Amino acid sequence: MATEHRFNGPVKLEVKLEVKLEVKPEVKPEVKPEFQIIGGGLIGLSTAYALLKRGVSVRIIEAREGVALETSFANAGMVHASLADPWNGPGVGRQMLGSLFGRPSPMTLRLSALPSMAGWGLKFLKYSTPARHWRATTANYKLAEYSSSLIHQWRKELSAKDSREDMGLIKIFRDGTTFAKAKALTDKLQLLGLKAECLSADSAAEKEPCLAPIADNIVGAIYYPDDYKADAYTFCQALESEIIKLGGEVLTGVTAKSLLSEQGKVIGVRTKTTDLLARTTIIAGGALSTDLLRPFGKPLPLRPVKGYSLTFENIVGSNGPKLPVVDDNLHCAVTPLGQSIRIAGTAEISGFNSSRQLKRLTPLLDMLRNIYPRLAQDLSISDGKVWHGFRPVSADGVPFVGKLKPGLAINTGHGHMGWTMSAGSGEMLADILLDVPAKLDEQPFSLTRH
Ligand SMILES: Cc1cc2nc3c(=O)[nH]c(=O)nc-3n(C[C@H](O)[C@H](O)[C@H](O)COP(=O)(O)OP(=O)(O)OC[C@H]3O[C@@H](n4cnc5c(N)ncnc54)[C@H](O)[C@@H]3O)c2cc1C
Repeated sequence: MATEHRFNGPVKLEVKLEVKLEVKPEVKPEVKPEFQIIGGGLIGLSTAYALLKRGVSVRIIEAREGVALETSFANAGMVHASLADPWNGPGVGRQMLGSLFGRPSPMTLRLSALPSMAGWGLKFLKYSTPARHWRATTANYKLAEYSSSLIHQWRKELSAKDSREDMGLIKIFRDGTTFAKAKALTDKLQLLGLKAECLSADSAAEKEPCLAPIADNIVGAIYYPDDYKADAYTFCQALESEIIKLGGEVLTGVTAKSLLSEQGKVIGVRTKTTDLLARTTIIAGGALSTDLLRPFGKPLPLRPVKGYSLTFENIVGSNGPKLPVVDDNLHCAVTPLGQSIRIAGTAEISGFNSSRQLKRLTPLLDMLRNIYPRLAQDLSISDGKVWHGFRPVSADGVPFVGKLKPGLAINTGHGHMGWTMSAGSGEMLADILLDVPAKLDEQPFSLTRH
């Protein structure tokens, strides 16, 4: 049996939507902070840290027994502004439809998810036109680029031991068409400031010598020197410690069941045992953010897109691979993190389906075999730690960061970019909430864009 991380899939949060409860829980006004954040993942923690640094009071409310045990736990560990393009690129509709009939596709759509897809799914397709997709890519890139350097600064402040190595990231290509498409996108992103280098297969093997055995199988590669690898969960733990040091409150094992409002203003949340009040409540609940917002108007165009990771510990020696490698076609990545190697990817639209399917893990191990055959030769899935998480994917692939209504703000929808965009999104929301001119244009991230 494969050993499993502490994370066993999302708990059933059972966010009941009824606003009227028979017994009114006890209210403790004396502990009312200025801001309270629903969700202690990468985004909630980053928002809390950005706010606390400005001297305001913050409380985090997290349903799990600790912070960052949902989607921020064992992701691919890459901070990658180079991958800013949303997954609903032109042609995605055809691919998703094909996946219903068993055709291989980077995004797999499950029949069972179709009924819940109606509004989001149509918008997801609507935003896949070249012009709209490029607009979304531009917004994401700017936030990702800003965020990547901020994470660097925060790491130093936090003394985070997150196995970061600034070596860049490499994308490899096995066919000319995909390579040409990726080069065209990279050329456009270079105009926005992305640094990139196109490589022959031999030069790719020089950058990462462990790629030498497969050099004959690849047509080329693109190297992104400013991307880097680092473990998101360790970073989250460092953030939590610093948040507590700065006087922030972190409540774990507490589920926000509904929002409380008075005269059109959100005043806090109701939990099983008490009402928790704050001047502003921020929703940073990842893929679960939709539940709390449902009674407040239009549904949030956000859906969970499931992904897996497989981590093999203590297998990377001093001559082992160093660079994270991405296979763009498959939305898969192989990241060496310290002495471990993590293969992460797959994108499945199947709602909050927590079952673990062996057939989803096999392509991950196959990918390791196709990239680092020597390292993978004696490994089987049962030697690895299996994890899955639900990426919060917005209909246009751009996160929601901003005020929603009096007393209520949002920071979610970061999809495959949540680690990369974490610090930047937290900082941007802190600017918005404290009326400081933001360093980035906020409009592309506002909910009103839909
Ligand atoms: C396989 C995979 C690989 C990935 N690789 C990368 C990568 O390399 N680089 C990158 O940038 N991104 C990557 N991502 C994406 C990234 O991990 C996510 O975007 C990010 O973790 C989302 O963070 P979050 O804080 O929004 O959500 P989460 O981490 O899910 O946190 C939300 C928290 O809110 C809590 N919550 C929800 N509702 C309530 C409630 N009502 N009351 C109390 N608590 C609540 C949940 O318990 C949860 O802990 C990857 C994702 C996957 C699945």
